[in-house]
Amino acid sequence: MPPKVVVRDLVKRYGGIDAVGGVSFAINAGEIFGLLGPNGAGKTTTVECLIGLRDADGGHLEVCGFDARKNPAEVKQRIGVALQSTSLQEQITPREALRVFGSFYRQRTDAESLLKRFALTEKADARFATLSGGQRQRLALALAFVNRPELVLLDEPTTGLDPQSRRELHHDIERMKQDGCTVLLTTHYLEEAERLCDRVAIINQGRI
Ligand code: ATP
Repeated sequence: MPPKVVVRDLVKRYGGIDAVGGVSFAINAGEIFGLLGPNGAGKTTTVECLIGLRDADGGHLEVCGFDARKNPAEVKQRIGVALQSTSLQEQITPREALRVFGSFYRQRTDAESLLKRFALTEKADARFATLSGGQRQRLALALAFVNRPELVLLDEPTTGLDPQSRRELHHDIERMKQDGCTVLLTTHYLEEAERLCDRVAIINQGRI
């Protein structure tokens, strides 16, 4: 099977400084791939270039068989993303958010099964403003799955969570792999990378 992600010589500069200075890696279909590195290493910038939130300054990016720099719309249909923090309108409920986000995609999973899978059924009709940090993170993961993605990109999904919530999220991520999904996970926790990832790239100061 062809790789799900190919990154070749990715460069992203902010004001003349290389935040990502020529990064290359590939992710095989069905694996959990970790991008491990300290604060400011360039993990988020790499993810944001892959998902089309930032324009790369150089390099080749291939996601799910598409040139991600030329075809960002096709890439977006096939991927799910949970960024470091997810802000939604304060009054929206998890059930409403899942329905609204689902309506953006050609194929989608129904809200009820996602609420169940990510243990949000009890909070389905609670306002976003009243959810705890862990519940918000689980909602972010559920939203990432709304379009039945082939690939999910999770940017530091467990940062700031208590140990129990972190363990629950680890189970969710392991289940993604069991369901046949490919996962790119960024983290600065060594033990998280060791536990979850099939392969890890260590990134520091914009270099692997
Ligand atoms: P963290 O673990 O703290 O989230 P990271 O590995 O995700 O870090 P990035 O957010 O990719 O790191 O940042 C890489 C470098 O690029 C840092 O030096 C950061 O200060 C810089 N940077 C990121 N975004 C911008 C921006 N919009 N403008 C200027 N510099 C930026």
